[in-house]
Amino acid sequence: MRTNHKEIQVVCPCPFCGHGHSVWVNEIDYLDWQDGELVQNAFPYLSAEEREILISGICPTCWDGMFGSADDEEDPDDDWGFNEDEGFDPYEGCYTGDC
Ligand SMILES: [Zn+2]
Repeated sequence: MRTNHKEIQVVCPCPFCGHGHSVWVNEIDYLDWQDGELVQNAFPYLSAEEREILISGICPTCWDGMFGSADDEEDPDDDWGFNEDEGFDPYEGCYTGDC
């Protein structure tokens, strides 16, 4: 097992909001990651959000803004709208019927 438990603070400025986010990691783990180790292997104790900050710098707030609430709120409305618009029943009914 690792014997060096010195922790270092990695600061990653978010590319969207510009806010600097810091993640505390073991220095040896960080060096492993810089050497090419997969982030999930190098930092198994970090949450997915913390790993994402290390990789992309995108903070959880901006991440949620891009992918979180948008999916939940807009998809149902879009689906209903497309179904209504793309339904050909009124026209087809007319052409194949008395018209
Ligand atoms: Zn951000």
